[in-house]
Amino acid sequence: MRILPYFIQNEDLVGKHVAVLGLGKFGGGVATVRFLVERGARVTVIDAKPAQALQASLQELKDCSDVTFQLGDQSPGLPDTDLLVVNPAIPPGHALLREAARQQIPVTSEIELFWQLNPGRVIGVTGSNGKSTTTAMIHCILKAAGKRCWLGGNIGISLLPVLEQVQSEDWVVLELSSFQLDALNRIHVSPKIAVVTNFSPNHLDWHQTLAHYRQAKQTILRWQTGSDVAVLNQDDPELHTWHTRGNILDFGTHAELDPDLVVDQEQFLFKEKMVSLTPRLKVPGAHNRTNAAAAMLACRVAGIAHHDLKRGLESFTGLPHRLEFIGEYQQRKFYNDSLATTPESAICALKAFQDDPLILLAGGSNKQVDLTEFVAQLQSQTKATALMGQTGKLMHDSLQVQRGSDQNKKYALISQPQATFEAAFDWAFQQSAPGDVILLSPGCASYDWFSSFVERGERFIALFRRLSTHDESD
Ligand code: ADP
Repeated sequence: MRILPYFIQNEDLVGKHVAVLGLGKFGGGVATVRFLVERGARVTVIDAKPAQALQASLQELKDCSDVTFQLGDQSPGLPDTDLLVVNPAIPPGHALLREAARQQIPVTSEIELFWQLNPGRVIGVTGSNGKSTTTAMIHCILKAAGKRCWLGGNIGISLLPVLEQVQSEDWVVLELSSFQLDALNRIHVSPKIAVVTNFSPNHLDWHQTLAHYRQAKQTILRWQTGSDVAVLNQDDPELHTWHTRGNILDFGTHAELDPDLVVDQEQFLFKEKMVSLTPRLKVPGAHNRTNAAAAMLACRVAGIAHHDLKRGLESFTGLPHRLEFIGEYQQRKFYNDSLATTPESAICALKAFQDDPLILLAGGSNKQVDLTEFVAQLQSQTKATALMGQTGKLMHDSLQVQRGSDQNKKYALISQPQATFEAAFDWAFQQSAPGDVILLSPGCASYDWFSSFVERGERFIALFRRLSTHDESD
């Protein structure tokens, strides 16, 4: 199937019939529709979801005239269309894409439209894990160094609305998903500075094969020129086989493979002039040291001085609800990892704190997943754990089984299932001592007590604020 790419000039869209396939709930669809309408296009939005499921997005388009909606139709036809703009979540085999190819209707996407009109210099980040964190770290360093810069892409921010404010000397930091890279391959573009954090199988429901996923990801290097730079994770053997015409800079923990930036437990060592930096990261875990190394190397290429790299990284508190550092009170550090809605992600968070005395808040609504391993890990690693929600009881039962009859062995202190989130928070604080970390990493969804993980994380932050401002208000 061959789909014609669409090359845009700013005035091209006046009076054109444009179909937007996939409105979605994450902002990209809304930004695309507004962008098209503002440039005089007549837009039809096609989405298999009914209006009710898209309420928030539709609300944001209330003031846009000349938009027709075709919602809730599972097998829609393609309206009379000059151009089809496809949401990144739409898989390549979608019937309307096949139809567009048959009718030779050009296809584009939000990221392609932005890319073609963007005058700024792009730093693009991809990888199977750590994309958002690394992208946000790069943006944080550039900002702290006083550079004009923009953050967008798959991180959940469309830059279409600010396109006209971007200048040619600005840095545009984009998280790029495999879906977006697959689209960028249509117009043969790659970033000036491309960062790849790692590669492992993912999203095979969309890509069908590992080879397709790999090919999509490799777009980040494929169209680079000799003046571009690729920042690659030397620890990932897969990436040794990836090719670029640009200059390769490697980061990693294996000094024997001669990376340009060596990631160590204590320091980061730039090989160029044997400069070592020891930023004290607020985000925990070995994986975040790897992300920091990628971010440092990319920003070094962007001309940021070493002392600004250190300052920028030390000001990075993490992405909201992902091992986010909230603050310190009475020498206890508080972290919000409300996004950890599966046992695997909570175990990963526990591992990030394996050298710290840890008080955990765990549990939530019941998704019928096996919590045995999570319970084993929290009992072997935490000082104390407050159990919450529907799964609090299940975890308590599982704990009794795991402890068996040997009541003399020393185990972590585990609470009875707590009646409220506030009670769990208070219990956790009461068990803590100076030097401890208090971590919300529930390992379960939030729907029994909250509308979403965001509300749960915000409540945790509010409780921390109430606690830490208590002394001042006394
Ligand atoms: P992505 O945007 O690729 O999904 P994030 O930066 O949002 O990645 O991190 C999501 C989760 O992935 C983190 O909570 C952590 O568990 C894990 N992670 C982050 N960085 C890395 C890394 N460099 N290697 C492996 N796992 C990582």
